Amino acid sequence: MNSTIISNYIPRETLNLQPTVTAIPETIQNNRVGRFERAIIWWAIKMRIFYFSCRILKSPRKIWITYKNILKLRSNVWGGDLKKLYKINNKYYFNQYNPGWPSRLYDMLIKTELHRQADPVNVSEKLSFIFLAITRKCPMHCEHCFEWDNLNQKETFTKDDLMKVVNMYQQEGVIQIHFSGGEPMVRVKDLIELIRHASKKSECWVLTSGFNVTEENALKLKEAGCKGMAVSIDHYIPELHNMFRGDPMAFEQAIFAVAAAKNAGLVTSISVCATKHFIDGGHLMPYIDFAKELGVQFVQVLEPRSVGHYEGKNVMLEKRHIEILEETFKKINYSPVYNAYPTMLYHGYHQRRVGCFSGSRSVYVDSAGDVHACPFCHTKSYNVLDWIRKENGQLPKKENRCPQFEIIA
Ligand code: SF4
Repeated sequence: MNSTIISNYIPRETLNLQPTVTAIPETIQNNRVGRFERAIIWWAIKMRIFYFSCRILKSPRKIWITYKNILKLRSNVWGGDLKKLYKINNKYYFNQYNPGWPSRLYDMLIKTELHRQADPVNVSEKLSFIFLAITRKCPMHCEHCFEWDNLNQKETFTKDDLMKVVNMYQQEGVIQIHFSGGEPMVRVKDLIELIRHASKKSECWVLTSGFNVTEENALKLKEAGCKGMAVSIDHYIPELHNMFRGDPMAFEQAIFAVAAAKNAGLVTSISVCATKHFIDGGHLMPYIDFAKELGVQFVQVLEPRSVGHYEGKNVMLEKRHIEILEETFKKINYSPVYNAYPTMLYHGYHQRRVGCFSGSRSVYVDSAGDVHACPFCHTKSYNVLDWIRKENGQLPKKENRCPQFEIIA
Protein backbone atom coordinates (compact mmCIF):
# COMPACT_ATOMS: atom_id res chain seq x y z
CA MET A 1 0.00 0.00 0.00
CA ASN A 2 1.16 3.50 -0.82
CA SER A 3 1.65 5.66 2.22
CA THR A 4 -0.12 8.69 0.68
CA ILE A 5 -2.96 9.58 2.97
CA ILE A 6 -6.19 11.20 1.86
CA SER A 7 -6.25 13.35 4.99
CA ASN A 8 -3.35 15.33 3.44
CA TYR A 9 -5.89 17.00 1.19
CA ILE A 10 -8.27 18.19 3.87
CA PRO A 11 -8.33 21.94 4.52
CA ARG A 12 -8.84 21.43 8.24
CA GLU A 13 -8.99 25.14 8.97
CA THR A 14 -12.14 25.53 6.85
CA LEU A 15 -13.92 22.28 7.65
CA ASN A 16 -14.92 21.01 11.00
CA LEU A 17 -14.70 17.38 9.90
CA GLN A 18 -12.71 14.54 11.32
CA PRO A 19 -11.72 12.53 8.26
CA THR A 20 -11.23 8.81 8.37
CA VAL A 21 -7.64 7.98 7.42
CA THR A 22 -7.90 6.17 4.15
CA ALA A 23 -4.84 4.99 2.29
CA ILE A 24 -4.81 5.07 -1.49
CA PRO A 25 -4.09 1.58 -2.83
CA GLU A 26 -0.82 1.31 -4.69
CA THR A 27 -1.03 2.49 -8.28
CA ILE A 28 1.38 2.78 -11.14
CA GLN A 29 2.30 6.04 -12.88
CA ASN A 30 -0.09 7.63 -15.33
CA ASN A 31 1.88 6.33 -18.38
CA ARG A 32 2.52 9.76 -19.89
CA VAL A 33 5.06 9.56 -22.72
CA GLY A 34 8.13 11.81 -23.00
CA ARG A 35 8.53 14.79 -25.35
CA PHE A 36 10.45 12.97 -28.06
CA GLU A 37 8.03 10.07 -28.32
CA ARG A 38 5.08 12.46 -28.22
CA ALA A 39 6.50 14.56 -31.08
CA ILE A 40 6.92 11.43 -33.24
CA ILE A 41 3.39 10.21 -32.50
CA TRP A 42 1.81 13.59 -33.25
CA TRP A 43 3.71 13.75 -36.51
CA ALA A 44 2.55 10.22 -37.44
CA ILE A 45 -1.10 11.07 -36.60
CA LYS A 46 -0.92 14.26 -38.66
CA MET A 47 0.51 12.29 -41.60
CA ARG A 48 -2.38 9.83 -41.26
CA ILE A 49 -4.88 12.71 -41.33
CA PHE A 50 -3.14 14.16 -44.39
CA TYR A 51 -3.22 10.76 -46.12
CA PHE A 52 -6.99 10.40 -45.54
CA SER A 53 -7.56 14.04 -46.55
CA CYS A 54 -5.94 13.36 -49.93
CA ARG A 55 -7.94 10.17 -50.42
CA ILE A 56 -11.31 11.56 -49.31
CA LEU A 57 -11.27 15.23 -50.27
CA LYS A 58 -9.07 15.01 -53.39
CA SER A 59 -9.05 18.72 -54.37
CA PRO A 60 -6.15 20.76 -52.84
CA ARG A 61 -8.55 23.63 -52.10
CA LYS A 62 -10.94 21.39 -50.19
CA ILE A 63 -8.03 19.81 -48.30
CA TRP A 64 -6.71 23.24 -47.29
CA ILE A 65 -10.12 24.56 -46.14
CA THR A 66 -10.92 21.38 -44.21
CA TYR A 67 -7.46 21.34 -42.62
CA LYS A 68 -7.94 24.94 -41.45
CA ASN A 69 -11.42 24.10 -40.07
CA ILE A 70 -10.02 21.15 -38.14
CA LEU A 71 -7.21 23.27 -36.64
CA LYS A 72 -9.73 25.94 -35.63
CA LEU A 73 -12.00 23.33 -34.09
CA ARG A 74 -9.09 21.81 -32.15
CA SER A 75 -8.08 25.17 -30.75
CA ASN A 76 -11.69 25.91 -29.69
CA VAL A 77 -12.02 22.51 -28.07
CA TRP A 78 -8.69 22.36 -26.29
CA GLY A 79 -7.53 25.98 -26.14
CA GLY A 80 -4.24 24.96 -27.79
CA ASP A 81 -2.16 22.06 -29.03
CA LEU A 82 -2.60 19.35 -26.42
CA LYS A 83 0.73 18.36 -24.86
CA LYS A 84 -0.09 15.22 -22.91
CA LEU A 85 -0.20 11.76 -24.41
CA TYR A 86 -0.43 8.40 -22.61
CA LYS A 87 0.65 4.95 -23.76
CA ILE A 88 -1.41 2.02 -22.49
CA ASN A 89 -1.20 -1.49 -23.95
CA ASN A 90 0.75 -0.16 -26.96
CA LYS A 91 -1.90 2.40 -27.87
CA TYR A 92 -1.69 6.17 -27.43
CA TYR A 93 -4.49 8.21 -25.82
CA PHE A 94 -4.88 11.97 -25.47
CA ASN A 95 -8.60 12.09 -24.69
CA GLN A 96 -11.06 9.60 -23.26
CA TYR A 97 -13.44 10.31 -26.14
CA ASN A 98 -10.93 9.35 -28.84
CA PRO A 99 -10.05 5.70 -29.46
CA GLY A 100 -6.45 4.64 -28.90
CA TRP A 101 -4.00 5.19 -31.78
CA PRO A 102 -3.03 3.38 -33.99
CA SER A 103 -6.27 1.55 -34.63
CA ARG A 104 -8.98 1.00 -37.21
CA LEU A 105 -11.36 2.92 -34.93
CA TYR A 106 -9.08 5.95 -34.80
CA ASP A 107 -8.92 5.88 -38.61
CA MET A 108 -12.74 5.76 -38.68
CA LEU A 109 -12.86 8.81 -36.42
CA ILE A 110 -10.48 10.73 -38.71
CA LYS A 111 -12.50 9.82 -41.82
CA THR A 112 -15.84 10.76 -40.25
CA GLU A 113 -14.48 14.09 -39.01
CA LEU A 114 -13.02 14.89 -42.44
CA HIS A 115 -16.38 14.16 -44.08
CA ARG A 116 -18.16 16.23 -41.44
CA GLN A 117 -15.88 19.24 -41.86
CA ALA A 118 -15.99 19.06 -45.67
CA ASP A 119 -19.76 18.54 -45.87
CA PRO A 120 -21.38 19.47 -42.53
CA VAL A 121 -24.97 19.37 -43.80
CA ASN A 122 -24.93 15.82 -45.11
CA VAL A 123 -22.88 14.30 -42.28
CA SER A 124 -24.64 16.01 -39.39
CA GLU A 125 -26.59 12.88 -38.45
CA LYS A 126 -23.61 10.53 -38.25
CA LEU A 127 -23.03 9.14 -34.77
CA SER A 128 -19.61 8.28 -33.37
CA PHE A 129 -20.36 7.69 -29.66
CA ILE A 130 -23.17 6.43 -27.49
CA PHE A 131 -23.71 6.44 -23.76
CA LEU A 132 -25.83 3.40 -22.95
CA ALA A 133 -27.48 3.09 -19.51
CA ILE A 134 -27.81 -0.68 -19.14
CA THR A 135 -29.61 -0.79 -15.78
CA ARG A 136 -32.04 1.11 -13.57
CA LYS A 137 -30.50 -0.31 -10.40
CA CYS A 138 -28.12 1.69 -8.25
CA PRO A 139 -27.18 1.46 -4.57
CA MET A 140 -26.31 5.18 -4.30
CA HIS A 141 -28.42 8.31 -3.84
CA CYS A 142 -26.37 10.99 -5.53
CA GLU A 143 -27.17 14.63 -5.07
CA HIS A 144 -26.85 15.37 -8.84
CA CYS A 145 -28.17 12.09 -10.34
CA PHE A 146 -29.50 12.73 -13.86
CA GLU A 147 -31.19 9.27 -13.95
CA TRP A 148 -33.03 9.91 -10.67
CA ASP A 149 -36.56 9.50 -12.07
CA ASN A 150 -35.67 6.17 -13.70
CA LEU A 151 -33.81 4.57 -10.80
CA ASN A 152 -34.61 1.33 -8.99
CA GLN A 153 -37.64 0.33 -11.01
CA LYS A 154 -38.14 -2.85 -12.99
CA GLU A 155 -35.35 -3.27 -15.57
CA THR A 156 -36.22 -2.03 -19.05
CA PHE A 157 -33.60 -3.91 -21.05
CA THR A 158 -33.06 -7.64 -21.23
CA LYS A 159 -29.55 -8.72 -22.15
CA ASP A 160 -30.83 -9.60 -25.59
CA ASP A 161 -32.31 -6.09 -26.00
CA LEU A 162 -28.96 -4.57 -25.08
CA MET A 163 -27.16 -6.72 -27.66
CA LYS A 164 -29.63 -5.52 -30.30
CA VAL A 165 -29.15 -1.89 -29.28
CA VAL A 166 -25.37 -2.29 -29.57
CA ASN A 167 -25.72 -3.95 -33.00
CA MET A 168 -28.04 -1.25 -34.24
CA TYR A 169 -25.73 1.61 -33.29
CA GLN A 170 -22.67 -0.22 -34.57
CA GLN A 171 -24.37 -0.45 -37.95
CA GLU A 172 -24.53 3.36 -37.78
CA GLY A 173 -20.73 3.45 -37.36
CA VAL A 174 -20.46 4.05 -33.61
CA ILE A 175 -16.80 3.76 -32.60
CA GLN A 176 -17.07 4.19 -28.84
CA ILE A 177 -19.66 2.90 -26.35
CA HIS A 178 -19.72 4.18 -22.77
CA PHE A 179 -21.74 1.79 -20.59
CA SER A 180 -23.49 3.53 -17.70
CA GLY A 181 -26.63 3.18 -15.59
CA GLY A 182 -27.84 3.29 -12.80
CA GLU A 183 -24.71 1.51 -11.75
CA PRO A 184 -23.56 -0.71 -14.66
CA MET A 185 -21.48 -2.94 -12.34
CA VAL A 186 -24.75 -4.14 -10.74
CA ARG A 187 -25.17 -6.15 -13.96
CA VAL A 188 -21.55 -7.17 -14.21
CA LYS A 189 -22.16 -10.56 -15.87
CA ASP A 190 -24.30 -9.03 -18.62
CA LEU A 191 -21.88 -6.12 -18.90
CA ILE A 192 -18.94 -8.46 -19.52
CA GLU A 193 -20.89 -10.33 -22.21
CA LEU A 194 -21.96 -7.06 -23.81
CA ILE A 195 -18.39 -5.78 -23.88
CA ARG A 196 -17.10 -9.06 -25.28
CA HIS A 197 -19.60 -8.62 -28.12
CA ALA A 198 -19.38 -4.84 -28.60
CA SER A 199 -15.58 -4.54 -28.44
CA LYS A 200 -15.19 -6.36 -31.77
CA LYS A 201 -16.39 -3.18 -33.48
CA SER A 202 -16.26 -0.36 -30.91
CA GLU A 203 -14.04 0.82 -28.08
CA CYS A 204 -15.81 0.19 -24.75
CA TRP A 205 -15.71 2.20 -21.53
CA VAL A 206 -17.47 1.66 -18.21
CA LEU A 207 -18.75 4.67 -16.24
CA THR A 208 -19.09 3.67 -12.60
CA SER A 209 -19.32 4.88 -9.02
CA GLY A 210 -16.81 2.14 -8.15
CA PHE A 211 -19.46 -0.23 -6.81
CA ASN A 212 -18.51 -3.90 -7.38
CA VAL A 213 -15.22 -3.04 -9.09
CA THR A 214 -13.17 -5.80 -7.52
CA GLU A 215 -9.73 -6.73 -8.85
CA GLU A 216 -11.30 -9.83 -10.39
CA ASN A 217 -14.10 -7.90 -12.09
CA ALA A 218 -11.68 -5.27 -13.43
CA LEU A 219 -9.55 -8.04 -14.97
CA LYS A 220 -12.64 -9.72 -16.44
CA LEU A 221 -13.73 -6.45 -18.04
CA LYS A 222 -10.26 -5.99 -19.50
CA GLU A 223 -10.13 -9.54 -20.78
CA ALA A 224 -13.56 -9.06 -22.43
CA GLY A 225 -12.13 -6.12 -24.41
CA CYS A 226 -12.96 -3.10 -22.23
CA LYS A 227 -10.54 -0.22 -22.84
CA GLY A 228 -11.33 2.30 -20.13
CA MET A 229 -13.04 3.04 -16.87
CA ALA A 230 -14.31 6.41 -15.64
CA VAL A 231 -14.91 6.50 -11.88
CA SER A 232 -17.10 9.25 -10.40
CA ILE A 233 -15.42 10.85 -7.39
CA ASP A 234 -17.07 14.09 -6.38
CA HIS A 235 -14.69 15.15 -3.63
CA TYR A 236 -11.20 14.41 -2.37
CA ILE A 237 -12.52 14.54 1.19
CA PRO A 238 -14.02 11.11 1.91
CA GLU A 239 -16.90 12.37 4.07
CA LEU A 240 -17.97 14.96 1.53
CA HIS A 241 -17.92 12.47 -1.34
CA ASN A 242 -19.92 9.99 0.76
CA MET A 243 -22.44 12.67 1.65
CA PHE A 244 -22.80 13.70 -2.00
CA ARG A 245 -23.33 10.07 -3.00
CA GLY A 246 -25.54 9.13 -0.03
CA ASP A 247 -23.42 6.09 0.77
CA PRO A 248 -20.87 5.71 3.59
CA MET A 249 -18.70 3.34 1.53
CA ALA A 250 -18.71 5.38 -1.68
CA PHE A 251 -15.24 6.94 -1.34
CA GLU A 252 -13.45 3.76 -0.35
CA GLN A 253 -15.08 1.86 -3.21
CA ALA A 254 -14.23 4.56 -5.73
CA ILE A 255 -10.56 4.71 -4.70
CA PHE A 256 -10.33 0.95 -4.85
CA ALA A 257 -11.96 0.93 -8.30
CA VAL A 258 -9.39 3.38 -9.67
CA ALA A 259 -6.52 1.21 -8.45
CA ALA A 260 -8.16 -1.99 -9.74
CA ALA A 261 -8.81 -0.43 -13.16
CA LYS A 262 -5.25 0.83 -13.46
CA ASN A 263 -3.75 -2.43 -12.30
CA ALA A 264 -5.90 -4.30 -14.83
CA GLY A 265 -4.42 -2.11 -17.60
CA LEU A 266 -7.48 0.03 -18.32
CA VAL A 267 -7.25 3.69 -19.32
CA THR A 268 -8.58 5.40 -16.20
CA SER A 269 -10.26 8.69 -15.48
CA ILE A 270 -12.04 10.26 -12.56
CA SER A 271 -15.01 12.53 -12.94
CA VAL A 272 -16.36 15.28 -10.68
CA CYS A 273 -19.56 17.29 -10.68
CA ALA A 274 -18.13 20.74 -9.88
CA THR A 275 -20.88 22.48 -7.92
CA LYS A 276 -20.84 26.17 -6.94
CA HIS A 277 -20.02 25.13 -3.39
CA PHE A 278 -17.11 22.97 -4.60
CA ILE A 279 -15.59 25.80 -6.65
CA ASP A 280 -16.29 28.57 -4.12
CA GLY A 281 -14.76 26.42 -1.41
CA GLY A 282 -11.44 26.34 -3.33
CA HIS A 283 -11.62 22.58 -3.86
CA LEU A 284 -10.81 22.42 -7.57
CA MET A 285 -7.00 22.51 -7.40
CA PRO A 286 -6.75 20.17 -4.38
CA TYR A 287 -9.02 17.79 -6.31
CA ILE A 288 -6.68 17.87 -9.29
CA ASP A 289 -3.69 17.27 -6.98
CA PHE A 290 -5.62 14.27 -5.69
CA ALA A 291 -6.21 13.02 -9.27
CA LYS A 292 -2.46 13.26 -9.89
CA GLU A 293 -1.76 11.19 -6.78
CA LEU A 294 -4.17 8.53 -8.03
CA GLY A 295 -2.15 8.28 -11.27
CA VAL A 296 -5.19 8.55 -13.59
CA GLN A 297 -4.78 9.72 -17.17
CA PHE A 298 -7.82 12.02 -17.24
CA VAL A 299 -9.79 14.13 -14.84
CA GLN A 300 -13.18 15.15 -16.16
CA VAL A 301 -14.91 18.20 -14.70
CA LEU A 302 -18.66 18.36 -15.33
CA GLU A 303 -20.97 21.28 -14.68
CA PRO A 304 -24.16 20.59 -12.68
CA ARG A 305 -27.47 20.82 -14.56
CA SER A 306 -31.01 21.22 -13.25
CA VAL A 307 -32.14 17.72 -14.25
CA GLY A 308 -32.98 14.53 -12.37
CA HIS A 309 -32.29 14.94 -8.65
CA TYR A 310 -31.26 18.58 -9.28
CA GLU A 311 -34.51 19.34 -11.15
CA GLY A 312 -35.88 22.76 -10.13
CA LYS A 313 -32.78 23.60 -8.06
CA ASN A 314 -30.55 26.60 -8.61
CA VAL A 315 -27.38 24.68 -9.42
CA MET A 316 -26.20 26.33 -12.62
CA LEU A 317 -22.71 27.82 -12.36
CA GLU A 318 -22.18 31.56 -12.55
CA LYS A 319 -19.65 33.56 -14.55
CA ARG A 320 -17.03 33.50 -11.78
CA HIS A 321 -17.19 29.70 -11.52
CA ILE A 322 -16.82 29.27 -15.26
CA GLU A 323 -13.82 31.61 -15.30
CA ILE A 324 -12.12 29.52 -12.62
CA LEU A 325 -12.83 26.30 -14.55
CA GLU A 326 -11.48 27.74 -17.81
CA GLU A 327 -8.33 29.13 -16.19
CA THR A 328 -7.65 25.81 -14.48
CA PHE A 329 -8.30 23.90 -17.71
CA LYS A 330 -5.66 25.95 -19.56
CA LYS A 331 -3.18 25.89 -16.70
CA ILE A 332 -3.34 22.13 -16.10
CA ASN A 333 -3.17 21.21 -19.77
CA TYR A 334 -0.52 23.70 -20.96
CA SER A 335 1.64 25.05 -18.16
CA PRO A 336 4.92 23.07 -17.91
CA VAL A 337 4.54 23.23 -14.12
CA TYR A 338 1.63 20.76 -14.46
CA ASN A 339 3.28 18.35 -16.90
CA ALA A 340 2.98 15.43 -14.51
CA TYR A 341 -0.73 16.06 -13.92
CA PRO A 342 -3.52 14.21 -15.72
CA THR A 343 -5.19 15.86 -18.71
CA MET A 344 -8.20 17.91 -17.64
CA LEU A 345 -11.36 17.40 -19.70
CA TYR A 346 -13.84 20.24 -19.45
CA HIS A 347 -16.65 20.24 -22.02
CA GLY A 348 -17.90 23.70 -20.99
CA TYR A 349 -14.81 25.21 -22.66
CA HIS A 350 -15.73 24.16 -26.20
CA GLN A 351 -19.49 24.23 -25.57
CA ARG A 352 -19.24 28.01 -25.04
CA ARG A 353 -17.10 28.50 -28.16
CA VAL A 354 -18.28 26.08 -30.85
CA GLY A 355 -21.37 24.48 -29.30
CA CYS A 356 -22.02 21.00 -28.04
CA PHE A 357 -20.75 17.77 -29.64
CA SER A 358 -23.51 15.72 -28.06
CA GLY A 359 -26.14 16.81 -30.55
CA SER A 360 -23.96 16.01 -33.53
CA ARG A 361 -21.72 13.09 -32.63
CA SER A 362 -23.36 11.16 -29.80
CA VAL A 363 -26.59 10.18 -28.10
CA TYR A 364 -27.47 9.09 -24.61
CA VAL A 365 -29.75 6.06 -24.28
CA ASP A 366 -31.16 6.28 -20.76
CA SER A 367 -32.11 3.31 -18.60
CA ALA A 368 -35.74 3.51 -19.81
CA GLY A 369 -34.56 3.33 -23.44
CA ASP A 370 -35.30 7.00 -24.17
CA VAL A 371 -32.76 8.59 -26.49
CA HIS A 372 -31.49 12.09 -25.66
CA ALA A 373 -28.76 14.33 -27.07
CA CYS A 374 -26.73 13.86 -23.88
CA PRO A 375 -27.07 12.64 -20.27
CA PHE A 376 -27.64 16.19 -18.98
CA CYS A 377 -30.09 17.61 -21.51
CA HIS A 378 -33.29 15.62 -21.49
CA THR A 379 -34.41 16.07 -25.08
CA LYS A 380 -36.06 12.76 -25.93
CA SER A 381 -36.08 11.96 -29.65
CA TYR A 382 -37.41 8.38 -29.60
CA ASN A 383 -37.42 5.21 -27.51
CA VAL A 384 -34.85 2.69 -28.64
CA LEU A 385 -36.88 -0.31 -27.45
CA ASP A 386 -39.90 0.68 -29.51
CA TRP A 387 -37.56 0.78 -32.41
CA ILE A 388 -35.70 -2.52 -32.00
CA ARG A 389 -38.95 -4.39 -31.28
CA LYS A 390 -40.34 -3.23 -34.60
CA GLU A 391 -37.22 -4.86 -36.12
CA ASN A 392 -37.01 -1.98 -38.52
CA GLY A 393 -33.29 -1.53 -39.12
CA GLN A 394 -33.15 2.21 -39.73
CA LEU A 395 -32.98 4.65 -36.82
CA PRO A 396 -35.29 7.65 -36.55
CA LYS A 397 -33.74 11.10 -36.66
CA LYS A 398 -32.18 12.13 -33.38
CA GLU A 399 -32.70 15.42 -31.60
CA ASN A 400 -29.95 17.80 -32.66
CA ARG A 401 -30.79 20.64 -30.34
CA CYS A 402 -28.81 21.62 -27.26
CA PRO A 403 -31.15 23.46 -24.86
CA GLN A 404 -28.20 24.83 -22.92
CA PHE A 405 -25.73 25.99 -25.56
CA GLU A 406 -28.10 25.98 -28.56
CA ILE A 407 -25.42 25.66 -31.23
CA ILE A 408 -24.14 22.24 -32.22
CA ALA A 409 -20.45 21.73 -33.02
S1 SF4 B 1 -25.50 9.41 -10.43
FE1 SF4 B 1 -25.02 7.29 -10.95
S2 SF4 B 1 -24.24 6.40 -9.05
FE2 SF4 B 1 -25.35 8.25 -8.48
S3 SF4 B 1 -27.46 7.57 -7.98
FE3 SF4 B 1 -27.41 8.22 -10.14
S4 SF4 B 1 -27.02 6.36 -11.28
FE4 SF4 B 1 -26.43 5.95 -9.15
